[in-house]
Amino acid sequence: MDDQKKESFLNFAVKMEHINKTFEQGDLIFPVLNDISLEITEKKLVTLMGPSGSGKSTLLNILSAIETADSGTVEVFGNRLSEATEKELTIYRRKTIGIVFQFFHLFPYLSALENVTLPLYLSGTPKAIAKTKAMDALSLVGLSHRQNFSPKEMSGGENQRVSIARAIVHQPKLLLADEPTGNLDSVSSEKIMRLFETCVKELNITVFLVTHNEQIGQSGDINLHLLDGKIQTK
Ligand code: ADP
Ligand code: MG
Repeated sequence: MDDQKKESFLNFAVKMEHINKTFEQGDLIFPVLNDISLEITEKKLVTLMGPSGSGKSTLLNILSAIETADSGTVEVFGNRLSEATEKELTIYRRKTIGIVFQFFHLFPYLSALENVTLPLYLSGTPKAIAKTKAMDALSLVGLSHRQNFSPKEMSGGENQRVSIARAIVHQPKLLLADEPTGNLDSVSSEKIMRLFETCVKELNITVFLVTHNEQIGQSGDINLHLLDGKIQTK
């Protein structure tokens, strides 16, 4: 590949081509994603809206390599997920992406700092370095003063900020968030959205978030709608 071609290839955060996904239950077949093609350049805030059951989580799960498409190709920062081995996918999940969930999924008996440090320990980062990185991530989300608090000692908004710190502590290129403000009040949601913007502008992360909130769904650099298995850009 010549340099120019390589350059334009690498500038894509996400490239999906002709993705199909169908779920089967007994004799019933539920088509969810129907021939979806999508190109997202890097360092963008992408929102995805759509009715319940339209396949938003399925699409996100394909990007996080939790699920595989039935056909088509998926590339994330040059990683061809559709062709990757299990070992390559494990490295991809550990290094290239970060995930934020609606219900935080923090360990209840660990402190904020321990929750953020854990993924670094698991990927073999030496303890002292892991701790420094985790403290930096907590500082970025404005929660240095809560580092020794456990999830039940913090508000929902604070828990979500800890989970964002955990998701970015290893400096991923793509942050995937499935209804990250779905369980939060409007003030906390606003803070979370400012943080995602910081991730894009200051950390050069591409953020891909699913939302039910109309206002958030219009606030991205790219706003997508999923309907009847197809993506529409608005
Ligand atoms: P959304 O996130 O937009 O609400 P989902 O991606 O969770 O939608 O689900 C899309 C459709 O696929 C739904 O009809 C759901 O019931 C179905 N579905 C999702 N995951 C599975 C699965 N593992 N097995 C069977 N059906 C599934
Ligand atoms: Mg969903």
